[in-house]
Amino acid sequence: MACDIAFAEVKMGSIHEPTTGRAAPAPPPRIGVLALQGSFALHAAALRRLGIEAVEVRRAPALEGLDGLIIPGGESSTMLKFLLEEDLFDPLIAFHRDGGAFYGTCAGAILLARTVENPAQESLGLLDVEIQRNGYGRQLESHVGACSCSALGEPDLSLVMIRGPVISSAGPGVEVLAKWRGAPAFVREGRVLATTFHPELTDDTRIHAYFLEVATEARQATGATLGGTNSR
Ligand code: GLN
Repeated sequence: MACDIAFAEVKMGSIHEPTTGRAAPAPPPRIGVLALQGSFALHAAALRRLGIEAVEVRRAPALEGLDGLIIPGGESSTMLKFLLEEDLFDPLIAFHRDGGAFYGTCAGAILLARTVENPAQESLGLLDVEIQRNGYGRQLESHVGACSCSALGEPDLSLVMIRGPVISSAGPGVEVLAKWRGAPAFVREGRVLATTFHPELTDDTRIHAYFLEVATEARQATGATLGGTNSR
């Protein structure tokens, strides 16, 4: 039996990596955290626990070379104002068009949405959902819930809700990965993820790890369309 395993390793090694006998691991994705306002430092800390040093993005040139960007929770109207002031609105849309992945938390989900209500507000329109700001109530109604998420397995996700938005409708291309009080709370549309809650306020890094997988896939897809190089 030991001989068979050794033989298999030699065979695999000879196919993939003749000199060392080991396939080179895929390089980790390069991730940025939009650092204009809100809980960007906590997202960077969650990524650090996964071995990723995130780039803090305050200006458009910092997007260069990234595979994915996290838009944190905070106050979406303030973040939107800063996005416009720093001329980051169009570069973020271009980053998505060029194959970059996104993960928006709470206010970040609001900024990614196609349509924002309560009140209406301009948004990037990169995620086909309609979203109601403060849809779970005001600060006093902020709460912690729990729900299952088959994409992430056991245990249940802890849902820290802080003036969270409610996703009131989602287009056909949007996968609902978790729900809270009947509404989608964790969604994915291709390389765009959003949660209406705050995993960065818990010790659970599974959603961040999931985003790293999405960003890695996005990079591989971009590399394939660009003929094996990633020019972002
Ligand atoms: N209610 C905030 C907004 O409308 C979002 C709150 C949050 O990100 N925790 O932008």
